[in-house]
Formats: sequence, C-alpha cells, structure tokens
Amino acid sequence: MNKIREQLKDKKRIVVKIGSSSLTHEMTGDLNLAKMEKLIRVLTDMNNAGKEVVLVSSGAIAVGRKTVGLLEKPKEKAMKQACAAVGQAKLMMVYQKLFAEYNQLTAQILMTKHTMINEISRENAQNTFEELLRLGVIPIVNENDTVSTDEIEFGDNDTLSAIVAALIGADLLILLSDIDGLYTDDPRKNPEAKFIDTVEVIGEDILKMAKGAGSSVGTGGMATKISAARIATDSGADMIIANGEDVNVIREAIDGNEVGTIFKAHKNKDFQLMDYLVTSQYTKHDQKSTVL
Ligand code: GLU
Repeated sequence: MNKIREQLKDKKRIVVKIGSSSLTHEMTGDLNLAKMEKLIRVLTDMNNAGKEVVLVSSGAIAVGRKTVGLLEKPKEKAMKQACAAVGQAKLMMVYQKLFAEYNQLTAQILMTKHTMINEISRENAQNTFEELLRLGVIPIVNENDTVSTDEIEFGDNDTLSAIVAALIGADLLILLSDIDGLYTDDPRKNPEAKFIDTVEVIGEDILKMAKGAGSSVGTGGMATKISAARIATDSGADMIIANGEDVNVIREAIDGNEVGTIFKAHKNKDFQLMDYLVTSQYTKHDQKSTVL
C-alpha cells in the first residue's frame, strides 16, 4: 500500500461529492434509489465510526426536470432555476427518508458564491457547519441554484465541494465521478490512455490532461475536477477522484485500497480561498507535475 493511501484511514473530516450522473439511471434520468440507499449506509457508517461527514450532492436540476416532465435538459436560466426549486426539495425528501432508516440526522445547506465572498455569511456558514458536525449531523450541500446568477455561481459541484472542503478545513475530499479517475488522455477516445494512481504535484502537464471527459447529465468534466483538486490540495485536503458506480468505493478508498486517483495535499501557505473566489482562477502555476 502506498504511504499516501495508508494515511487515509486516519482522515477525520471528509467531504464526499456525488454528481447527477451518479445519482440517476442513465436510461431514464430517474433517481437510482438502490445506489442512494448504499451511499446513505456508507456515509452513516462513517459517521458511526467517528468521522465527520459532509455530502455535496448535485441532482436538483436533474430531479426537478423529471418531476415537471421535461424531456430535454433545460437551457433557459429561469427554467433551470425552476427545476432546481422543485428538484432540491424532492432530493432532500428522498435523502431524509433514506437517512432516517438509520436514525441519521441530516441538514440542508444551500450556498452561492455570494455566501462565500461576503465575510459575514462565510463565517456564518463556517459556524453552522461546525455546529452541525459537532452534533453528528451530516450536512447535505448544494449550490442554491434557484437564486444564483451567472456572475456569482459556482456552476459545478466539483468546485463547490472543494470550496466547502477548504472552508471547513476538511482533510479529505472524495469526488464520485463516472470514470475511474485521471488518465493521461480521454480513455473513451484513446485506448492508449494510461491511468494515474497518484498525483503528488499538480503542474501544467496535468492541467493539459484535463480536457475532454464529461457526461450529458452532470456539469463537471475532468477540467473542473482538476481545478477542484488544486483548491482542495492547496487548502490542505487530499482529494480522490473515484468511480461512483459502486459507492463502496468510498470505504475502499478510506481503507487505503488503490481505487481512483489520489491528489496529495500540500498545504500552501499562500492559498487564500478569498482570492480564488474573487478571481475564480489561479494566476501562477508553472511547476511540473509529479505523478506515480
Ligand atoms: N447544482 C446543480 C444541481 O443540483 C448541479 C451542478 C453540478 O452538476 O455540478 O442540479
């Protein structure tokens, strides 16, 4: 077992992100309840084992769209926001029902970039997370799609989950995706693409690999995941991209098994969450990647 993975069992504060494509059936777009049940069991068990767990869940727009009977993904902002309003409530209803099977308390936290940029709201959000985790509650986070605007939206939950990880000082972020992890090229197009197990340093070459891969359901491709990895690792959290097809991958990852791609945390003393939020990008990053 490699050293970085060996330490994963000691992680205490863990953010897990699940995307719309992992939560829904590919054929119908309806919620995959069997998978959600497994996810809830794994997360509750982590909580029972003394970990602090935060779930960042997409799915509001996808669930809302099915609920109101739209055949296509909505394109208009107002329709997306209307779908999110319907879908977020339904999504939480399903989560609460499933978590209640195990008597696990949950909470809903809806954030916008504005919540993060405004110092007082940011502090309030931080304090709320602290209290909820202290109470053993599993916060379920999403972007507040209904009120966010183009200028102040995160836009994808890969970024949002990394920002949440940075905000609460998490030590591990797990992104459940629809591919196994990071490859040297898009494996769906290039059979020669090689899987990368560990990324010690994210450099320009890794950023170039981020092109391509994405699904028709979610919004995050590999580029947003790499960008999330930079935020998470700079803030001091390890990050794993793993295939959410079988959610037991969360447990396997924490047990140190070689699943997914792990990005090693390297707390950057210059990392300022605020700077990132205001500019939405990193300005300097020219080092070479170190991969295993
Ligand atoms: N906030 C969006 C939703 O719940 C998802 C964004 C994403 O797919 O990353 O529908």
